Amino acid sequence: MDTAAALDDRALPRLPSLVALLALVVVGLATLLLHSPTSPLGADAPDDAFSAERAAAHIETISTEPRALGSPAHRAAREYLVGQLETLGWRTSVKSGVGWFSPPDGRTQRGARVHNIVALLPGTDPTGTVVLAAHYDSVRGSPGAGDDGIGIGTVLESARAITAGPAPRNDVMVLLTDGEEDGLLGSHMFTQTRSPSLGATVVLNHEARGNTGAPMTFRITDPNAALVEALSHAPGANADSFTQLGFELLPNDTDFTHFDTAGFHAYDTAIAGGSAFYHSPLDTPDRLNPESLQQMGETSLTVTRELADSDLTALDSGGEVIVTTVPWGLLHYPSWVEIALTGLFVVAVAWLVVTRIRRGEATYWSVATATGVSVATVGFTVFAAWLPWWIAMRLAPGMASPVTSEPSAPACINSLPSSQRWGC
Ligand SMILES: [Zn+2]
Repeated sequence: MDTAAALDDRALPRLPSLVALLALVVVGLATLLLHSPTSPLGADAPDDAFSAERAAAHIETISTEPRALGSPAHRAAREYLVGQLETLGWRTSVKSGVGWFSPPDGRTQRGARVHNIVALLPGTDPTGTVVLAAHYDSVRGSPGAGDDGIGIGTVLESARAITAGPAPRNDVMVLLTDGEEDGLLGSHMFTQTRSPSLGATVVLNHEARGNTGAPMTFRITDPNAALVEALSHAPGANADSFTQLGFELLPNDTDFTHFDTAGFHAYDTAIAGGSAFYHSPLDTPDRLNPESLQQMGETSLTVTRELADSDLTALDSGGEVIVTTVPWGLLHYPSWVEIALTGLFVVAVAWLVVTRIRRGEATYWSVATATGVSVATVGFTVFAAWLPWWIAMRLAPGMASPVTSEPSAPACINSLPSSQRWGC
């Protein structure tokens, strides 16, 4: 037996495997390098740019204590925000009224008097209104620097940068909603009493379920093609059609729901890292990741500028697209492509199975076994990920966040440099 030839024979199939491994490593490295966080800009950044430091100053002012509906800090935050928008020269007012929450399970409706802050920058030749939205209330017991201080900082600093640039074609509105934490009350009141003068309306809603991580646009209204196109022009934007499905499984909700129901076009963007800090007394300004703030701000400012100068009545055309984030940006394609690719995939697998069985290279039994093992592997992987956490929770329940029951991340609590806190 020729040992060298036998070794060569065995070495040959390794080449495709090596190429595949190399390709995986290259894609992994590209993902890391191309998707590294945006560096926060200081207060000396150009006037028309988004600066995390300038945005953070607003968050520090309003997040010294919880801003629960009706509390003195809630009122103080409102007065501060109104003052800031008036200083920018926007037509600012406080719209008061009753907002209602109807529990989906048919329990008693509840309502409260809420005070939304609305500010308008009139456009030069408007086709509609671009709305920058966030909620300024917080839950009881949490200073809400992330939820929703990051949204407030993003909206105020974006509004300032827009004012510093050329006048937009469309009306641009700032909407700081009230009573979000008590059942989306402010956005309910806003949509119920909205003025017909809004015209075609697109809302950029900003949220947080933590205090760090890359902002993700996890919900977009249908038809989404034009909205996804505008979002894809923002460097650092993250979106994935799959997350919309995932969010529907969570008990959370946001003002986006009322904007969608009212027939507005809308984006829902949030950070979700550091969920141990969500609705917690530890959700303080010093713990909010400035890189997350910079990235959310830059993305929103880019999208707002583009929409503020486009024909908003055309947002309805363009149809449905599937979107996912790849290392170089957003990949988006019409829904029918996904259906066609799924069909092709099923046909290709069926062809492969039949051909191999006909050639005697496989049997029905071996194909069934391979399918069963593949499915079992997925199940086992989920189990293997869940089991250590289950054991850890039995040993030390304090490791979980009391609000989300997800793991706390001590790295976020330590005052590490922000560059090391990304993704914690
Ligand atoms: Zn919130």
